Amino acid sequence: MQNMVILGATGSIGESTLSVIANNPTEFNVYALVANASVDKMLSLCLQHQPQYAHMVNEHAAMQLKAQLPAGCVTEVTTGAQALNALVTDSRTDTVMAAIVGAAGLVPTFDAVKAGKRVLLANKEALVMSGELFMNTAKTSGATVLPVDSEHNAIFQCLPVQVQGQLGYCDLGQHGISHILLTGSGGPFLQTDLSTLSAMTPAQACNHPNWSMGPKISVDSATMMNKGLEFIEARWLFNTQKEQLKVVIHPQSVIHSMVQYRDGSVIAQMGNPDMRTPIAHCMSYPQRIHAGVEPLDFFKVGQLSFCEPDFSRFPCLQLAMQACEQGQEATTVLNAANEIAVDAFLKGQIRFTDIADVNYRCLDSVQQTRLASIEDILQLDEQARVTAKSVIKTLN
Ligand code: NAD
Ligand code: MG
Repeated sequence: MQNMVILGATGSIGESTLSVIANNPTEFNVYALVANASVDKMLSLCLQHQPQYAHMVNEHAAMQLKAQLPAGCVTEVTTGAQALNALVTDSRTDTVMAAIVGAAGLVPTFDAVKAGKRVLLANKEALVMSGELFMNTAKTSGATVLPVDSEHNAIFQCLPVQVQGQLGYCDLGQHGISHILLTGSGGPFLQTDLSTLSAMTPAQACNHPNWSMGPKISVDSATMMNKGLEFIEARWLFNTQKEQLKVVIHPQSVIHSMVQYRDGSVIAQMGNPDMRTPIAHCMSYPQRIHAGVEPLDFFKVGQLSFCEPDFSRFPCLQLAMQACEQGQEATTVLNAANEIAVDAFLKGQIRFTDIADVNYRCLDSVQQTRLASIEDILQLDEQARVTAKSVIKTLN
């Protein structure tokens, strides 16, 4: 029985994780659920899954949840950074699902890595901000990091088992690997007339053709910043050199990514676009469990197509690839700027095409800083948010 802590339990990945657990109740126990402020959702999850702990980052939400839980309920409500650290590092915690959205997920995810836990990583922003430190810490602590992001999970599945055991530091070339092909659908605006992009609304941007996800990652998919963040995520997870990593647009989202070998072989992982597959894979690795996902029907799929990304349509992808080359300061700044820009877009404060502008201007202001610790990274993240907010003011 694996005791699981689910960070971001009330979100889209949280929901899919709980659904996989419900399909495999004898193998997994919901030890703790963690969320920001959604009291009603957390209350219903507590009643259904009976976790030992329910942690709300928002203090007021924690008080409300405590007041609403029925008498005799097994769940203890906690709040505060210390209590969250205690949950992810607790000796009873075996596995941590890291599915808080954005930079807010970095600290608890990193704490779980430091404590040597089995960490199922959905929160790509943590690696974008701290990739090198994160993977080095995992190596030292003996933590097992398994990628939940569907592309990275696909790549992981297509890698030789020796490489799977040395994530973050393996030399891919030594195992006959020539390229990692990161696929992406191109999102809802792949065919949209470029001249109309600036008028696209949050509802249109969140209307992804294949995947159902939270609002931030949905907008990131529309700008393809998501693929950019994934490019950086892949760089750290798989220790790729610049020329080893390529982005391929594949609108059907049937192939979730591929590994190309020296001898001409290409190994792809396929499936329906349903996050329960990579989540179940990470939960049970190296075994396989039922995820509750429909088998892929090739006769329904019919055709698979591919094309090269167009940077004039997706400038955010290019910015992220540049930042990846520049280094950790650049990727941290870009991530922070993007979170602020996406939030402003979702609130109707800026236009869709302004997101790339804000990101570009913030990236342009990056200065060499020493990032030796999580505290250094968080400080730079904070500064970049201030810069992004002042850039946004100049747009209005
Ligand atoms: P979501 O918006 O649906 O859920 C976010 C969760 O994070 C919620 O439980 C929320 O309470 C919690 N949260 C938000 N702010 C917080 C804070 N300050 N402190 C603590 N908790 C906070 O997001 P999602 O789509 O489930 O995505 C979660 C993560 O997984 C993201 O990093 C995303 O990039 C990644 N991911 C998601 C998908 C997907 O299909 N949804 C796929 C791949 C990767
Ligand atoms: Mg992905």
